[in-house]
Formats: sequence, C-alpha cells, structure tokens
Amino acid sequence: MTNGSKDLIFAADLGGTHLRVATVDARGKIHFRAKQHTPQGTDPNDIVGAIVRAVNEYRKTAGAASEGLKAVSLVVPGTVRAEEGTVVKAPNLPCLDGFPLASALTNELGLPAILENDANAAAVGELWQGAAQGCRTIICVTLGTGVGGGIILDGELWRGVDGAAAEIGHMCVDPFGGVACTCGSRGCLEVFASATAIVRMAREASPRHPDSLLHASGEVTAQAIFDAGLKGDELALEIFRRMGVYLGIGLANLINILNPEMIVIAGGVVNGWDLFERDMLQQVEERAFPLLAARVKIERAKCGDDAGLLGAARLAI
Ligand SMILES: [Zn+2]
Repeated sequence: MTNGSKDLIFAADLGGTHLRVATVDARGKIHFRAKQHTPQGTDPNDIVGAIVRAVNEYRKTAGAASEGLKAVSLVVPGTVRAEEGTVVKAPNLPCLDGFPLASALTNELGLPAILENDANAAAVGELWQGAAQGCRTIICVTLGTGVGGGIILDGELWRGVDGAAAEIGHMCVDPFGGVACTCGSRGCLEVFASATAIVRMAREASPRHPDSLLHASGEVTAQAIFDAGLKGDELALEIFRRMGVYLGIGLANLINILNPEMIVIAGGVVNGWDLFERDMLQQVEERAFPLLAARVKIERAKCGDDAGLLGAARLAI
C-alpha cells in the first residue's frame, strides 16, 4: 500500500483496558504515540469515536506531515474476519461482536482500514522487527492474562478458514487436571501458563508452603510470584516449574506438527523466563522429535508492547 518514505500507517492496539495508538513508517519506525482508556460502554461507536479522536489529535499535532497517513490498522483482542474487516467475537469488548469496525473507521476517516487479531499481529510484529527477523516459519505464543498464539507459515499469517486459527492457549495439555477454562473446555494450556493461571496455582499450593514470602505480600500477582521466585521462594519456584512443564508440552506438540524455525514467547509472563526456561526446554527435548527440536529456536520476544502495533502496520503496508 505504501511506497513513499513519508508514508505512515496509523496503528491502533485495542486492548480490553487501554487503547494504544502509533504512527509507523515503512521501515518499522514508530513516530507519534498516544494511550487512553478503552471505552467500556455497550455502543461500538464509542470505540470508533475514540480511534477517530486519536487520529484527529495526531493530524493536529503533525500538521502537514499527517498527509503521509495512508491507512488505519487495528489490533483487536478477539476473532476477526480480516478480509471483511468485521469483528466476530471479542470476549473483553462484547459490544464489538459482529461489528463492521473497518468500514465504520473508513467512513469516519476517509482512509482504508484493516483489522487483525492481537496475537496474530504480535507474531507479524516479531517477524518484521523483533526476535524472528529473517525467519519464514514461526509460532508466537503470548503469555498474558490469557494465552494467545500466532502462526506464520512460509511468510504468510495462517488465519484458518474462519480467522480463528492458532488458539494455542486452548490446546489441551492435561485431560485429567479438571481445571476449567473460559473457553468451556478443561485442561487448556491457558489454565497453566497464563498470568491468571500462575496466580491461581500459587493460591492453590500456598497451604503446602506456610513459610512462603507470598503470605506476607498483599495482592498476589504473577509479578509478585516471580519476584519471590528470584529470592528463592520455594512456592514461587514450584509454580514456575509447573508452568514451564505445561508450556513445554504445548510447544513440543506445536514443534512436531509445524516444524517451525522459531517459537517466540511474548507477553508479561516472559518476565519469569529464568524460572521456567529449564522445565520448558526439558519437555521439548523429551517430547519433540529430535531433528525438529534441534532445529527450532525458542526465544523471548523483542518488541514488547509494540509487537501488535508493528504487526498491524506491517499488515497494512
Ligand atoms: Zn480453553
């Protein structure tokens, strides 16, 4: 879509809590940035309005340079029909379910607009500007409040026939665990490897560790558990070891099915890498085919919170 050096994409990352926006050029450089709370109402036009205001604010700030704006590319926390620009289902923003968000933005702004799922956009961002630069076939696993996934095969994002592919977080890794998942199934990777899961597992295991530092800390968050683990707290270490085992089982399955060059692990839980890496890699070694396990690189993401914005921009370019 863009060729000129001054061309820009207005990328917007629509989270359940925050709406982050940036302008990105064709080389992946971010210029303007802004952040606000995501409107929480029941009217999807509130979200359209927030994005339109952000674009107008940028136009006012940038003046003549805003002439370079060629498209709007939006990252959505849910399933989208990318070719239609429609949100299918966004569990944290249910007002968008079934809403033609891309055409609503085009009508308001006079610019082409596209949508992409957040985990897919993050995979594209990491391939373009992050850990997976130069790769062709990668899997990106995002460990946040939930567990998301993006799969790129031979340089192409794999969306599946309904745009709902790569739900890596809902791969079953424990049929006997009985832990219910928000998707309606049980024993999904998400209930063992997300930030939410780490907090739940710590709570469940805490009676067995009366001396744990976590009893003294106020609100137990994944970050607090990680901090305790760094101080050698046995409860925290046990939780990250368990999480690493389940994640490794999931990755081994993906490796055997897709034979990727790289798996990029993104999301806030990556902060705990040093505490789960060994158990994750051990499961991969034990369960994946040796040839495939030797080939794949498992790396931490490099784009941080910008992966989705960068991926969205790349998809628009
Ligand atoms: Zn699930």
